[in-house]
Amino acid sequence: MYLRMARRFALETDKRLLAKAVWMLGVKGLRSVHRHKRRLKKGEFFPPFLYMSVINSCNLRCQGCWVDVAAKQHKIELDAATRTIEQAKEMGNSFFGILGGEPFMHKDLLTLFERHRDVYFQVFTNGHFITDDVAKRLRDCGNVTPLISVEGSEIISDTRRGRDGVYNQTMAGIEAALRNKLLVGVCTSVCKSNIDDLVTDKWVDRLIEMGVMYCWFHIYRPVGPEPNPQLALSSEEQRRVRQFVVDTRATKPIVVIDAYHDDAGNALCPAVTGFTHHVGPWGDIEPCPVIQLATESIHDDRPLKDTFNESTFLKDFRELTAGETRGCVIMERPDLLVELAEKHGARDTTARGGVIEELKNVSPRRSQYQPGDEIPERSLVYRWAKKYAFNDFGTYARHFDAQRYQDPDDKVDAPELVQIGEPSRR
Ligand code: SF4
Repeated sequence: MYLRMARRFALETDKRLLAKAVWMLGVKGLRSVHRHKRRLKKGEFFPPFLYMSVINSCNLRCQGCWVDVAAKQHKIELDAATRTIEQAKEMGNSFFGILGGEPFMHKDLLTLFERHRDVYFQVFTNGHFITDDVAKRLRDCGNVTPLISVEGSEIISDTRRGRDGVYNQTMAGIEAALRNKLLVGVCTSVCKSNIDDLVTDKWVDRLIEMGVMYCWFHIYRPVGPEPNPQLALSSEEQRRVRQFVVDTRATKPIVVIDAYHDDAGNALCPAVTGFTHHVGPWGDIEPCPVIQLATESIHDDRPLKDTFNESTFLKDFRELTAGETRGCVIMERPDLLVELAEKHGARDTTARGGVIEELKNVSPRRSQYQPGDEIPERSLVYRWAKKYAFNDFGTYARHFDAQRYQDPDDKVDAPELVQIGEPSRR
């Protein structure tokens, strides 16, 4: 399997792009994690991976999206994005996740990539704006991987994403990216309506056949103004997704990403461990894209280094949450976020202004934390990589108190649980 994977990378992608990914994502990425660990030992903090939602606008209207895509357009201007990236680079960062809205609606996006050829970008996109011309420019940059979201078969995808033809346009974007030999990923927010179609060997085999190099399965999180809880997965379905990810990693020549487990299958939240934080379209610094609360901004006068180091809001978020659960706080303990917002006077970073009410309306449910049902990695490579570079960096050992954990499944009766859930944002 590893040989087949190596062969695919060697023969199916542009060698220059592959070399850049290995250097910036592999070597420099590991170095940034190493610097993060050293900072933690000294009691300092700066997340080694930053996500930036560069624009709120989107051409789609997906079920369960938490971004105010129909509000007046707002974006992180080129200079502000450049300043943020430069300051993160000084801290050793070499990888940036770019989200929206739909990032390709930001007119300066490609210029941003061209300006920062020494770091690597992963763009979360619906693929609709990836034409051959755009893909050629991305190939020329060499430092960008599009992560294109597919949310189901044609009918399901078009329902999830708000209109006819979405699926076909997305597939056209994937094909344009692949024709131009980009390193392409496909992601899915797994929910009740797509789990049977996409969490399958058949779908992964098709991605491999197309030339897709990696896939990413998120779990649908019922948040935002229209959470669509009927789409959320039950605990059993979430364990099924985890088992599928572990098995696929060990058997198929495609990289599979998930961001919720360490090598032993222990659940974690990458925002709580401090692995990532997020900058929203208005410049607000949030724990993660779906937690739309902040006390700081990239537009503040302070250097970013000091902002992350001194933010009591983010520190409290990490410690308070880690004390109560290893899962996703917005799914399991939205009340903690309300408490945190009140304590720190955190502002609602949405245009709609209803985040606290939305949090109060969330019905708690289990997330990636499935105590007693941990599924360890089967693949030696993933096991090693996670041991070194993707784990909790001691966060839960320091803070988690099993006595304080409240199992959401204990509170929700079975029929209600089946009705709970949400779709993804794109
Ligand atoms: S809080 Fe939930 S959605 Fe945010 S990073 Fe953690 S697990 Fe993911």
